[in-house]
Amino acid sequence: MAQNKKNGAAAAAAKKPAPAPLIAGHAYPIHDHTYDVVVVGAGGAGLRATLGCAEAGLKTACVTKVFPTRSHTVAAQGGVAASLGNMGPDNWRWHMYDTVKGSDWLGDQDAIEYLCRNAPAAVYEMEHYGVPFSRTEDGRIYQRPFGGMTTEFGEGPPAQRTCAAADRTGHAMLHTLYGQALRYSAEFFIEYFALDLLMDEDGVCRGLLALCLDDGTIHRFRAKRTILATGGYGRAYFSCTSAHTCTGDGNAMLLRAGLPLQDMEFVQFHPTGIYGAGVLITEGARGEGGYLTNANGERFMERYAPSAKDLASRDVVSRSMTVEIREGRGVGPDGDHIFLHLDHLDPAILAERLPGITESAKVFAGADLRREPIPVIPTVHYNMGGIPTNYHGEVLTLKDGDPNAIVPGLMAIGEAACVSVHGANRLGSNSLIDLVVFGRAAGLRCAEALESGTAQPDLPAEATDRALARLDKFRYAKGSTPTADLRLQMQRSMQSHCAVFRDGPVMAEGVKQIHEIWNASGDIGINDRSLIWNSDLVEALEYDNLIAQAAVTVVGALNREESRGAHAREDFPNRDDTNWMKHTLAWADYASKSVKLDYRPVHTYTMTNEISYIEPKARVY
Ligand SMILES: Cc1cc2nc3c(=O)[nH]c(=O)nc-3n(C[C@H](O)[C@H](O)[C@H](O)COP(=O)(O)OP(=O)(O)OC[C@H]3O[C@@H](n4cnc5c(N)ncnc54)[C@H](O)[C@@H]3O)c2cc1C
Repeated sequence: MAQNKKNGAAAAAAKKPAPAPLIAGHAYPIHDHTYDVVVVGAGGAGLRATLGCAEAGLKTACVTKVFPTRSHTVAAQGGVAASLGNMGPDNWRWHMYDTVKGSDWLGDQDAIEYLCRNAPAAVYEMEHYGVPFSRTEDGRIYQRPFGGMTTEFGEGPPAQRTCAAADRTGHAMLHTLYGQALRYSAEFFIEYFALDLLMDEDGVCRGLLALCLDDGTIHRFRAKRTILATGGYGRAYFSCTSAHTCTGDGNAMLLRAGLPLQDMEFVQFHPTGIYGAGVLITEGARGEGGYLTNANGERFMERYAPSAKDLASRDVVSRSMTVEIREGRGVGPDGDHIFLHLDHLDPAILAERLPGITESAKVFAGADLRREPIPVIPTVHYNMGGIPTNYHGEVLTLKDGDPNAIVPGLMAIGEAACVSVHGANRLGSNSLIDLVVFGRAAGLRCAEALESGTAQPDLPAEATDRALARLDKFRYAKGSTPTADLRLQMQRSMQSHCAVFRDGPVMAEGVKQIHEIWNASGDIGINDRSLIWNSDLVEALEYDNLIAQAAVTVVGALNREESRGAHAREDFPNRDDTNWMKHTLAWADYASKSVKLDYRPVHTYTMTNEISYIEPKARVY
């Protein structure tokens, strides 16, 4: 097939490298490429956008640090939400209500409307692309219940809204989308590590600089639009369900470009990570009838969420589990985790609907879930915060008092983006649908705005030099601290100071520690000076990306004096809509290692008049 690794190498070989700029005395020959659109990331979001742009006839490149089907989307298990109504009555308006409530009224309601009303079409599109969804008896797409998904605007029984391909939905989607993207003439640059955005002096994004990991060459992509689809930054924490590659590189590129990230204090803990390993057990397990128990064998969720019980939303279940453990009712020798039971379910259902987690439980917890419970604990899982965008995927910033100022040339989608549809807490199965709905929207926007092949102005040399100088600094770093030490300190600090429950003094200590670690980063030492498969160097670049995100996360968390969604403060236990129904914007200054905050209003309006604004109320399940 043409679009494999060779494709990138061939594209590279076709161009003669530009004269090598000298950075600190080192020469870096540059391979130049020109595209209409360059997408960074080949997860669900990046592939859907790549496919859309290529299909529209735009010259499109997709740059990815891992092989596309190794992106974290491949690990998604439980499913993708859309109100198809295959298993009972459903309506996109009910899905919208649940998403607004799940977001604890921090989500932008125009964007949430866009997501929920376009969700069914996006799922049918994937079905037609070939995603092998599980089926009902009569051949329709199988849908399971998921946390926080209800009917009748929260008044009716749970909705069966989450479309599933057994418990390997992300795997099925990612492989199908990659196959589809290859049908068009998009070019893939696989195992190319994007270093930095190339911004001109007017604040327009003009492309990006990347390092080809397997031959060490430097590639400069010039494009009319750059779409960041680089995923989340779970690896800022010690225990998380996401892949080692989830280091939020796109988010950090944005910070280095002097632009703000939004709502970074909202970090989702999934209730059921396998104790010790962090590996995920999907919420679909509870959707199929699984339940949690404490040391007394009690189904404690009945006390915390009398109607939704084990299918309350993730923040609520994670907090309830943490309270049980804290109050001495945890299970295990140290009383520090909880049991998830599936042993009462029909083994045939487990084999058909949950084969993947049956295997994970065996491998990572030594548990035969047909006979015994799985030890679980809340584990970092998803970043609600990210790059602020509108529902077309265009990046927004605060400029001259305008909170919706578009950053020309730059777009963001997927977990890297904050549209914001998930607000303070994402509902399970709402991320996979976010990837394809907004991936598609970004493609449509590019098709609308761009004409293929028109001339592009020259790239600003300073932007290239800045990005190369950063690379060079790490490549020749002679300090005495290995990256792994700094990373571990950061991960431990975030895990203990900015977790499920948060408190002012504890977070203040976290802010202090993270800044100390950030300041100590000048002492990083790298041993390998080469550019070919230099994992030492790549890990240092990724750590440098993570530490700035850790800083904006903990500073934003300390600053937000209320409890909302995943952000639960012991010293401010209530939601405060008067003062805090607003998005946090955070800028990071790499030179002074400091964070600056400001705000954007939440969109308290819908996209059309087919549904009216959903007024805030108490969030109970
Ligand atoms: C274990 C697990 C299970 C989940 N299950 C579900 C579920 O059932 N339902 C649901 O809705 N959500 C689920 N989620 C959440 C959802 O899967 C993710 O939010 C989503 O897949 C993120 O997709 P993405 O396209 O934004 O990024 P990713 O899939 O993370 O892909 C990121 C891409 O960016 C590229 N990239 C990153 N940095 C660079 C760089 N510097 N240079 C070049 N390329 C770069 C990578 O190579 C990769 O291709 C789950 C998450 C996890 C961790």
